[in-house]
Amino acid sequence: MDKYLYDKELECPVCSKKFTTKKVRLRKIPVDKKDPDFHIWYKGINPIYYNVWVCPNCGFSVTESEHKPLNMDQKALILKQISMKWQKRDFGGERTYEQAVETHKLAMITGTLLGKSKGYLGSLCLRLAWLYREADNTALEMTHLKYALDHLEKAYTNESFPIAGLDELSLAYLIGELKRMLGEPKDAIFWYNRALEHPDIKHKRLIQLKAREQWQVAKEAYNLMKERAKDA
Ligand SMILES: [Zn+2]
Repeated sequence: MDKYLYDKELECPVCSKKFTTKKVRLRKIPVDKKDPDFHIWYKGINPIYYNVWVCPNCGFSVTESEHKPLNMDQKALILKQISMKWQKRDFGGERTYEQAVETHKLAMITGTLLGKSKGYLGSLCLRLAWLYREADNTALEMTHLKYALDHLEKAYTNESFPIAGLDELSLAYLIGELKRMLGEPKDAIFWYNRALEHPDIKHKRLIQLKAREQWQVAKEAYNLMKERAKDA
């Protein structure tokens, strides 16, 4: 475990206390397999567990990209809505599955309070869905895939790229994939097409391959759906 993790020292943007969190040496972790929605199964350790940085003193919880200075109003909001109710606990060690889920929920609370972008909130929901997938909890996985889709679809039209770390065509593909998983193959095909017709697709061979593959899967599901509707 130690070869994959190291301690990072941080200062909390809300309460200014110092704390440490574990960071992951991502490139060293062996990959087991990849899902079509960009989720990666790693061997030995799961980097998603360490995605959210939680201040043990005041409860401020964000991912690395959002760990930045706040203005007075934002600090006051966190202190009033989160820190006042915060039961002090430290997520700075190796994390369990339950802690991974909890830290993502905490980040959702902080992110929603601060009015973070839909892209950011969507990416948190997507990671929560992946955690539930890893625990074979299909019902909660689907619920959070739907949350992720709602946020990311809004982000696609209203926010600037990169969104959730993705460029436009990769996000179009991901939205298609989420729609397909949620039983909307017709909409999925629309979004795969959007990715496949993007002028940059020729530089993104992997996504191009995946989009074509998943387009076929969605097409078959859609045909089946139409046949069933006819029989009914
Ligand atoms: Zn703090």
